[in-house]
Amino acid sequence: MTMVPDKRLFLCTDLDRTLLPNGHVPEPSGARELFRALVSHPAVTLAYVSGRNQPQMREAIADWNLPAPKWAICDVGATIFRVTGETWHPWTAWNDAIASDWRGMDSWQVAPLLQGIEGLRKQPETQQNRHKLSYYADPESDSARLRAAVLARLVPHGVRATVIWSIEELENIGMLDVLPAGASKLHAIQFVRAHLGFTPEETLFAGDSGNDLEALCGPLPAVLVANARPEVRAEATRRIQNASHPTALFFAGRGIRGLGGDYAAGILEGVMHHHPHAATWF
Ligand SMILES: [Mg+2]
Repeated sequence: MTMVPDKRLFLCTDLDRTLLPNGHVPEPSGARELFRALVSHPAVTLAYVSGRNQPQMREAIADWNLPAPKWAICDVGATIFRVTGETWHPWTAWNDAIASDWRGMDSWQVAPLLQGIEGLRKQPETQQNRHKLSYYADPESDSARLRAAVLARLVPHGVRATVIWSIEELENIGMLDVLPAGASKLHAIQFVRAHLGFTPEETLFAGDSGNDLEALCGPLPAVLVANARPEVRAEATRRIQNASHPTALFFAGRGIRGLGGDYAAGILEGVMHHHPHAATWF
């Protein structure tokens, strides 16, 4: 008898408008139940990757009756938690790894450097943390100009930062996050993936919006759910055409089992595309 090698999957998904059906498009009936069936398979390790902070992520899990993750990457990659039962353990190794990008400063020390940039309004303190500074802006803003203005303030101080722009669809508000250069959804996923010993091929990232683009268009297998906004799809297409590294982005759309490719159904379509063997897992 031939032994089939063990397959496993490190499934990393964004929440809002990727797994959570909280956009304009209705959710395919039964999609989240199928997702739950998939992630309950012992070969699957589930991570949520979101711009939400820890309390907001836990609220979403409760409100939408989502399966509990093993790992939680919050604050657009600025914080990571290992989840055991009801306990979320902050993974300080990650914060230690990214601290040098801000020369050991925390966001309360970096914020004064960004004071007075036209078009940026600081979000409430609950949205800020040690390694994340968040602002609101007009959704029609020139995001490239805002990014350049932020970096121009930080570079002279030796602060290496990533600036992430996204648009909150339902509230129609622009959001600009400033993180240590090494802190992003993609880098955080890679940090956990390496720690757990998953290969890139055993990994999948699912997302829908601006702060997912780096991870969607990076070296890991990825899926853009079909309900993503057209401009996100266009930008993802542009990025993978111009990428200097191999990319593996799948655009969900046809769907599986008659469910279409929106939200959880899109995630499952991506799983089937990149990991066809997982079809027997749900
Ligand atoms: Mg999202």
